[in-house]
Amino acid sequence: MNPVDLAPDLNRRQALAAAAALTAAGVASLSRVDALAAAPAPAPTPASAPVSGPFALPPLPYKDDALAPVVSAQTVGFHYGKHHKGYLDKLNGLVAGTELAGRTLEQVVLAAAGAPDKAALFNNAAQVWNHTFYWNGLRAGGGGAPPKRVADLLQSSFGGVEEAKKALHAAALGQFGSGWAWLVDAGGGKLEVVKTPNAETPLTTSKRPLWTIDVWEHAYYLDWQNKRADYAQAVLDKLINWEFVNANLG
Ligand code: FE
Repeated sequence: MNPVDLAPDLNRRQALAAAAALTAAGVASLSRVDALAAAPAPAPTPASAPVSGPFALPPLPYKDDALAPVVSAQTVGFHYGKHHKGYLDKLNGLVAGTELAGRTLEQVVLAAAGAPDKAALFNNAAQVWNHTFYWNGLRAGGGGAPPKRVADLLQSSFGGVEEAKKALHAAALGQFGSGWAWLVDAGGGKLEVVKTPNAETPLTTSKRPLWTIDVWEHAYYLDWQNKRADYAQAVLDKLINWEFVNANLG
């Protein structure tokens, strides 16, 4: 999705809100209606507008309805436009005026990891990184057969593509509470599945992240309610972007 794709939806919402305000004003005096009509429209604040500060919200690589029905446009609107952007805004507030403002996102995550006095910084920076990684690991018409290099590694590491998907599904289900399930490169031609709680990320370990699934409830509750297992299976069957995995192998 490019940066303006969420704007029409938000503009529609603003128009509806303005219409509702005018309707409510209709029971008041005509002068009140005139005043509302004459008032300048509020400046649009699309969720994907450029964010002030050192870090920007990366555009999604597809439109907000591209992942439906597994991940609906409504979920993308909240998850990307509110949650992901919320982490980004908090991150920018935390690094503003500090020496970290000039660092890369990865450097901020690593600088804050494990530091008790930097927990908020770590949580928000890692969540920005994790979410960007998650979005890029999904695509419309995903799933299916991986590229040969990926398929060969899944065969040697797990016994096959389906076995790897089962391991990822088990990790997605086994993560108690909020968190993430990951496919990682453990080195030496060995791929592994790991799970992390909250904002924790393999980025801070020696294992290279290859793919992830967000299992925070905000990732699936609008579409799947409490059925995390069904959400995870549908993502693995229909949205996993194996080319992304292949690219991350380096
Ligand atoms: Fe999330």
